[in-house]
Amino acid sequence: MEKYIPLSIPNFEGNEKKYVDDALQLGWVSTGGAYITKLEEMMAEYLHIPQVVACQSGTSALHLALLGCGVEPGDMVIVPTLTFIAAVNPVRYQFAEPVFMDCDDSLCMDPQKLRQFCEKECVRSDGYLIHKASGKKVKAVIVVHVFGNLADMDAIMEIAKEYQLKVIEDATEALGSYFESGKYQGRFAGTIGDFGAYSFNGNKIITTGGGGALTGRKKEEVAHLKYLSTQAKDDPHYYIHNEIGYNYRMTNLQAALGVAQMEELEEFIRRKRENYLLYQKLFTEYTAGKLLPFREHTRTNHWFYALEILKDQKNLNLRDVIMELDKLGIQTRPIWGLVHEQKPYQEYIAYQIEKASYYSRCVLNFPCSTQITKDEIRYVAEKIIEVTEAV
Ligand SMILES: *Cc1c(COP(=O)(O)O)cnc(C)c1O
Repeated sequence: MEKYIPLSIPNFEGNEKKYVDDALQLGWVSTGGAYITKLEEMMAEYLHIPQVVACQSGTSALHLALLGCGVEPGDMVIVPTLTFIAAVNPVRYQFAEPVFMDCDDSLCMDPQKLRQFCEKECVRSDGYLIHKASGKKVKAVIVVHVFGNLADMDAIMEIAKEYQLKVIEDATEALGSYFESGKYQGRFAGTIGDFGAYSFNGNKIITTGGGGALTGRKKEEVAHLKYLSTQAKDDPHYYIHNEIGYNYRMTNLQAALGVAQMEELEEFIRRKRENYLLYQKLFTEYTAGKLLPFREHTRTNHWFYALEILKDQKNLNLRDVIMELDKLGIQTRPIWGLVHEQKPYQEYIAYQIEKASYYSRCVLNFPCSTQITKDEIRYVAEKIIEVTEAV
């Protein structure tokens, strides 16, 4: 096969060009304009919530969420270690300290260990959760819905309530995923905790080139964060600022792309699901690896597909597999390196990390673009099986 099959590329089959041209024609290219409002309204309606704030990136949305939780220098914030580092960096923007938590088999945060940390390592005092050894306040937990797979929000919300933790959902990979039953039936990723963050970076399920969005449970709090995202401007004409703000607002050009992408979101999810099911069929008799499932009783967006290359494959080096597949025209990628092992984060608490270490060594992502053809999927599955079973 001569064609190179990429891991995940954007899809602009809809009104993208039309809306971007329109924004250009009107001259509204910056942080004001009708497409921004339109995108916020579309998202709010889709997610069944009153308010969404379009931001410059998912990272900036997460930073605003931490501000919303009142995270200050010296506070602690519980974060996953198996995630993209952007979920953690904003904690340091606030000069707060991350506490790294393990994942369970869903690759999302392990609620049992979260509970154990709160119970054994912390005490409740004056309405705060205090880390015993350091005396620091543990203010919030950031939960990532990895690859579009919903975290165990039932358990996590219960723990957060019990221990007075604010919950930030990093739903940057999970726009469109929701619970089909249970306590949070019908609730979308990003709309369950105190705040939710979305990303529209190039490889996310919808893209604005770069961009993000913020949601929150309390309308006034979200409105205040929107104000902070636009340089904390208190007057439309005069330069009056009563707080320190940020330049975190999305531009109208980005939002024009976003409106077109939102129109296609459900179609993207439909294709991702259909393609996942085909892969599932092709991998039924696969022995060297296992296609990771998504949580039961959820409608996931199927954003990224992941294979667990099985542990008894001692001679199998993921790097070799990735290089071999690359030669065959297939782009694959290992899951992230653990954040607590990265240079800026080695000094912070990493709480009983076990499963995250295991999965960080053996999880492989493989092509999942919405435009991938059925023939390409068959080729990818065949070559993955060949390459990993050959050793
Ligand atoms: C993409 C991503 C982010 C950051 O979003 P940007 O829009 O790139 O800033 C944060 N967390 C996770 C888990 C992500 O995958």
